[in-house]
Amino acid sequence: MAKRFSVSEYTDGVLSGNRVMLSRAITLVESTLPSDQALAQQVLDAVLPHAGRSVRVGITGVPGVGKSTFIEALGLHLVNTQGHRLAVLAVDPSSQRSGGSILGDKTRMNLLAAHPQAFIRPSPAGRSLGGVTRATREAMALCEAAGHDVIFVETVGVGQSETAVHSMVDFFLLLMLAGAGDELQGIKKGIMEMADAVTITKADGDNELASRRARREYQNALHLFPLAPSAWSPVVTTSSALTGAGVPEVWAIVERYVQQTQASGYFQRRRQEQNLHWLHETIRETLEAHFFARPEVQQHLPAVQQRVLSGQQSAFGAAAELLGL
Ligand code: GDP
Repeated sequence: MAKRFSVSEYTDGVLSGNRVMLSRAITLVESTLPSDQALAQQVLDAVLPHAGRSVRVGITGVPGVGKSTFIEALGLHLVNTQGHRLAVLAVDPSSQRSGGSILGDKTRMNLLAAHPQAFIRPSPAGRSLGGVTRATREAMALCEAAGHDVIFVETVGVGQSETAVHSMVDFFLLLMLAGAGDELQGIKKGIMEMADAVTITKADGDNELASRRARREYQNALHLFPLAPSAWSPVVTTSSALTGAGVPEVWAIVERYVQQTQASGYFQRRRQEQNLHWLHETIRETLEAHFFARPEVQQHLPAVQQRVLSGQQSAFGAAAELLGL
């Protein structure tokens, strides 16, 4: 177990922008030990008034689309020329199976990782999707309290984690490849619908023409979706993390989105809705965890499952019986 500090040591460390203490505080909120969780809650309560002043961007795309290369290029643009302080977090529930995680290999972003104004944190390993998203959301608050005014949340665009990430960010960016077939590269239509912007990656060399064609196709496809509640029309661009072409443009789009939605009030409203959403999610998860942790439930569950499997009892009747224990 990692060494523990006092609430004020964590809080003062985070608020002064001390990266080591920020890292330790994130380790604390990721811990599943009940004693750590109590301490983490106190630290979170203390820093929360200083959180929230950031732009939160979700970035997704299938493995190999160029996420880490793009995040490094865009990230360096933000810290070197825009004066931002960036935090990059990852949501990867699959890391519990592979043992690794999408940001685990920091060498993929070594320039950014070494930059004093950037903070990179891999996905917490060995947790359920619910556990990973809660820890990431809390890590986001800690990073904001430490003065990071732009937060990237990276996720692999193949699973259900995108919906969770979408509900914790202001802007959702989808990375796509040109010429990889009409199958939307395993990206579900639902993920396309969540995107505020799509950028066709690796638009360089021989790939440039195909990228421009793909840009037009995706732009047309997005036009068919109904207008989002944000009243924002999603934008499709091309970019190359290799040459840097189109990378600053993506940030300009995020800034335009923030301006437009702050002016309309949507930005603030959505953050409030997200807070309510997470309130209910947390209650649901906590109740569920308590329920399944009860000895009587653990004792009776196998037999009840067996009865439902063999058709001796209906699922509803069985659930009512367990809930009534
Ligand atoms: P991720 O799995 O989505 O994080 O993808 P990576 O960032 O690891 O990139 C996958 C591969 O694509 C690597 O071999 C990169 O060198 C390559 N790549 C990434 N960005 C570009 C780009 O802008 N242009 C070209 N030509 N290759 C790129």
